[in-house]
Amino acid sequence: MNNANVPAPSFFKGVRLIDPQAGVDAVADLLVTPEGVQQNPAVVPADAKHVDGTGLWALPGLVDIQVHFRQPGFEYKETIETGSAAALAGGICTVVVMPNTQPRLDTPDQVTFEAEEARRVRGIDLLVAAASTKNLDGKELTDHAALKGAGAIAITDDGFPVLDDDLMRGSLQLCAQNDLLFMQHAEDIRMTQHAPMTDSPVSVALGVRGQSSDAEGVMVERDIALTRETGARYHVLHTSTARSMTAIRAAKAEGLSVTCEVSPHHLLLTYDACASGDPNTKMNPPLRSEYDRQALVAALADGTVDAVATDHAPHAKDEKAKGFEDAPFGVIGLETAFAALLSFVHDGTITDTRAVELMTSGPASLLGLQGQLGTLSKDAPVHLTLVDPNREWTVTEEAMAGKSTNSAFLGHVFKGKVVATVLHGELRYADGLA
Ligand SMILES: [Zn+2]
Repeated sequence: MNNANVPAPSFFKGVRLIDPQAGVDAVADLLVTPEGVQQNPAVVPADAKHVDGTGLWALPGLVDIQVHFRQPGFEYKETIETGSAAALAGGICTVVVMPNTQPRLDTPDQVTFEAEEARRVRGIDLLVAAASTKNLDGKELTDHAALKGAGAIAITDDGFPVLDDDLMRGSLQLCAQNDLLFMQHAEDIRMTQHAPMTDSPVSVALGVRGQSSDAEGVMVERDIALTRETGARYHVLHTSTARSMTAIRAAKAEGLSVTCEVSPHHLLLTYDACASGDPNTKMNPPLRSEYDRQALVAALADGTVDAVATDHAPHAKDEKAKGFEDAPFGVIGLETAFAALLSFVHDGTITDTRAVELMTSGPASLLGLQGQLGTLSKDAPVHLTLVDPNREWTVTEEAMAGKSTNSAFLGHVFKGKVVATVLHGELRYADGLA
């Protein structure tokens, strides 16, 4: 085991430290060790690795609240170890994993397994969103209290919605009683019927079935009514439509505990990207109209969106090669998430601080972990992400650190790249640093 070894300290000279939770935005020298981050240290240990941080941003390690690491059950797509490598390359140090593994994360033992496996492979920090219903069947609720006892931080049937009203009410009540966040995959599947993309001129041109984008909003609206009734903390995963955002904005104004995230692909792409029939543009929820996309961007700017999350969903090449209609839903996103978010800084839509907030303090706060995550405070793990906001790079399959390469952004040129990641005080990823 490497755990016994003390990693060498890192010394980042002249970086711009941005920590929205701590209210810090200043140029500083940082000495990083497993014990913590020291600003402008008087003494730098002789064995420290020096990095010239001129022009670089130093951020609290990024947090991604929706990923699929596929373990157990689908290790050919991704494992906790390979998913961690991809996350580190994207500056992400903490993730919330979804329960649609095989077996499902619907028992205390399965919840415990995830964290233990992450430790075994020296992976990133995993938080577990456990199943709302047994086997994600949507029929019988899991033992929410026992899942919380095993360490689950949230409840979700992601991959599926909790469709039944009474079951959803029951799950929200249990979440309220046990101080768990409910995360909904909002999709009225009676309306979508697994149609591979949004009903649009593109679905017609491709000759594939289209689904109504209202399938998301009707479920968000129903859930908000149940949230009002139960007093639970409710979160909308991968929010993709204007209708959902309108409902979420109103719920927040009303004072309900409702939060939401958006995914980079929904912020940057529309169903026009599906025109070539590329299965790497097929995900759930599917890409939407320009009207919906603009509503997401507006919500990103006005503060309605609490977090950006990837919905990192690896699939093997032969699965995606089945063609648009038959390929599984989902795209990866860990390595491109922050770069994608920076697009909206470069075009003036949001400030640099807001971009950082969306993957640090925002997710920490909605998880109920303010001060303990996504900040460089003493109570948070020593995670640090270094970003060159101006480095241009092209997304290629060869550069992917995870097992699968099904990115919707292959060939895309981004401005802004994660150049180093420190996990628990140890420099674990570095790309072209002087
Ligand atoms: Zn989902």
